[in-house]
Amino acid sequence: MAQAKRTPMMEQWHDFRGRLPDDTLLLFRLGDFYEIFLQDAEEGARILGITLTQRHGMPMAGIPYHAANAYIGKILKAGRKVAIVDQVETPKAGKLVKRELTRIITPGTILESQQQEERRSQFILAIELSRKAVHAAWLEISTGEFSLTSQSLDNAEGLLSVFTALDPKEVILPEGSLLQAGPAAAVFVEALDPLLSTRSVTEVEAYHFDSANGYRGLTETLNTLNLDGFGIADSHEGIGSAGALLDYVTKTLCKRPEHLKQIREYRIEDTLLIDPATQRNLEVFKSAMQTREGSLMAAMDGTLTAAGSRKLEQFLSTPTLDLEEISTRQRTVGIFTQVPTALYDIQELLKRVRDIPRILSRLQNTLQNPRELGGVRDTLNQLPEIRESLRAVKYELLDSMADRIEEFDALEAHLRSALNDDLPGSIQDGGTIRHGFDEELDYLYGLTSDNKSWLADLEKSEQELTGIKNLKVKYNGAFGYFIEVTKSNLAMVPNHYIRKQTMANAERYTTEDLKRKEKEILNAEERALAREEQLFGGVISRILEDKDRLEKTAHALAELDVFCGWAEIAREWNYCQPVLDESDALEIEGGRHPVVEQMMRKERRGLAGEHRFVPNDCSLQSSQCQIALITGPNMAGKSTFIRQVGLIVLMAQVGAWVPANNCRIGKVDRIFSRVGASDELARGNSTFMVEMNETANILNNCTRQSLIILDEIGRGTSTYDGLSIAWSVVEHLHSDAEAGPRTLFATHYHELTRLSADLSRMENFSVAVKEWNDEIVFVRQVVPGAADRSYGIQVARLAGLPDTVIARAKDILADLESGSERLHALNFDADTSPEKEVRESKVPKKQQRPGPEDFQMELFG
Ligand code: ADP
Ligand code: MG
Repeated sequence: MAQAKRTPMMEQWHDFRGRLPDDTLLLFRLGDFYEIFLQDAEEGARILGITLTQRHGMPMAGIPYHAANAYIGKILKAGRKVAIVDQVETPKAGKLVKRELTRIITPGTILESQQQEERRSQFILAIELSRKAVHAAWLEISTGEFSLTSQSLDNAEGLLSVFTALDPKEVILPEGSLLQAGPAAAVFVEALDPLLSTRSVTEVEAYHFDSANGYRGLTETLNTLNLDGFGIADSHEGIGSAGALLDYVTKTLCKRPEHLKQIREYRIEDTLLIDPATQRNLEVFKSAMQTREGSLMAAMDGTLTAAGSRKLEQFLSTPTLDLEEISTRQRTVGIFTQVPTALYDIQELLKRVRDIPRILSRLQNTLQNPRELGGVRDTLNQLPEIRESLRAVKYELLDSMADRIEEFDALEAHLRSALNDDLPGSIQDGGTIRHGFDEELDYLYGLTSDNKSWLADLEKSEQELTGIKNLKVKYNGAFGYFIEVTKSNLAMVPNHYIRKQTMANAERYTTEDLKRKEKEILNAEERALAREEQLFGGVISRILEDKDRLEKTAHALAELDVFCGWAEIAREWNYCQPVLDESDALEIEGGRHPVVEQMMRKERRGLAGEHRFVPNDCSLQSSQCQIALITGPNMAGKSTFIRQVGLIVLMAQVGAWVPANNCRIGKVDRIFSRVGASDELARGNSTFMVEMNETANILNNCTRQSLIILDEIGRGTSTYDGLSIAWSVVEHLHSDAEAGPRTLFATHYHELTRLSADLSRMENFSVAVKEWNDEIVFVRQVVPGAADRSYGIQVARLAGLPDTVIARAKDILADLESGSERLHALNFDADTSPEKEVRESKVPKKQQRPGPEDFQMELFG
């Protein structure tokens, strides 16, 4: 567009646009609209599904200012950031309105409740790589949770687990850093890729990551002299990343995030690490279908508040290794399971608790809505009863929980006297402040209502004076107050009426008296609103005076909510309190899969008990039965069993009760879970390569205290390849002379069962099946000893393969088993295969050679 034709307003627009990064869409306030201009307009119109118009050849699209929130959500979803330029003074005719950039809304810096997922945290993560280490910081801007860390590259694998579990909405990197990272960092950078490729990544100039900059930013924002108070050394290498985060957030909020009050050091050695593949395989946060439903988190979530749900997410994403803390949680849950009346009373009260942490973040960032003040008031209102209910149980643990819920009598009384019961969605609507709270406001409202009744009287008296029966006193936004007389009565209009507007069948008038009154009314209304806004600000300040104590209390309530939820689930599903200790054991009696068990009941509701989940035991010790090798036909329940063990361990270590009758677990430092490639075809990668990468990762990072769950490892390649790999993996896990990581290995390679002869700490188990007229019946029971055969053909029949195919497969099998001509033709050397362990079975023991079953697996498995 020609430079010369720009209006002053467009100059202003270009000025803002020029200073904003390309990935933002600029919403420019123009009266009651946000307009999107020029290059933004076309894209904006497409994303928002609104009309693209042209004015003087200039593309533009507009959204109503009061509905902006709905549109902003769409823009963010489309992967764009939103810059908001507002009018910061009342527009005057003939003068360019002053405008300012007030916010840049990005996926990780959302404060608006409309855009937030209330039950999910929204982290923003900054990562910096040096040649030897990874530095990082992450921030939940809406709750103020802020952490930094620094790990040597040897440890970086663990950090990746944490990053994935945090599931940040947005990642900040120094410009070009990933390209420059040296060879030592290359592996980490590659592993980071799945995370980075699925979220909003912003590169910022490297100086933002400078540690002096970070130190200054942190001390200024947190308002401290140094970071000692947070237990962070001045030289901590994560400070640069934390500083970069602060700079970024400051830019998006257009001010320092003064609501942040603390930062803590994240220490990898304090948490149970669950690497990304394991989070996926165990479906910790999301199901295989990428939904919350069907995940462990959903099965464990009995919370009633959003903050409680986020607390649960936090517990699961960085599970503590502090046995004392874990035991406190378990025992608290235990008390609630025993005193259900207290449990249900408290849950009833929690239902009325609002999202205090996020409300506080909004109040401090000029996103202020009277209803949220009401939310604070209503929450405070529940506290005395919650405290009492806790104390009434008379357990020390609940007393100390009660102590963490602070008293806010003065604040609550203030809110009660200041705020109306029902509150408007915006202060502009009036009606926020309660009558009787402020004399001046009452006086101004009094004026307004006096004047309004004067108006009402006016209609009647003018009707009488003029004799016009249908004379009306009316109001509209454009013309204010007026007297309306229909055309048929114009002759009766008195001289002192002043004509204001002519309508099709009426005339509108005013009078000197009415003009004066109108001014008074509008004046009083304006003054009342201004006064109300002022008082509103005062109430907010009063709340913020108690901010730290409110935050503390909100944390306690969120935990309480999680514990109550766990107790409720424990009661409903008959969970037990696990014992966690420093032993090397993993003993589970009557264990169940928390998610599958719940699903089964939902799906089979109303039907008889035959579809109940079958409980199973597990007994492992690093130094005795370290490796359990589990065989059994397809569909028997192997995968379910080994996963349930992993889930029970995780549940136990976050402090919850577990789906079992009895459970004792020697603390686990890492959980690893891998699934053989063909189970994961959906992921589309070169699956075998992925499987091997991930297996390598386990072998390189597991310790004696780890738990390893391997499902059909080696399946993704040819039989002998796969078998050999599986074989040597088991040997490797067993290579330590005294003890090794507790391992559950489900496999269809029967040959592996022979390993138990050589490996003293490996034992065979199988999932039993019954045979019935050549059909198999799954009994879902894990029993000692190896499976006798794989029942591939029977499973294939269950799956609905045509009878002719089944019959033919049987022929081939018999053939393979008797002669082995066909075997030789297939280059399948059966003679080298070891004899299998055979447990009690109704099957004639003729099929002792392992090869054919594997062949069947290739065919049908
Ligand atoms: P495998 O890995 O041996 O092929 P899965 O673990 O995938 O078998 O289990 C197959 C199906 O059996 C699952 O979808 C599940 O619904 C059911 N199942 C597994 N274990 C149990 C159990 N203990 N009780 C009831 N049903 C089970
Ligand atoms: Mg399986």
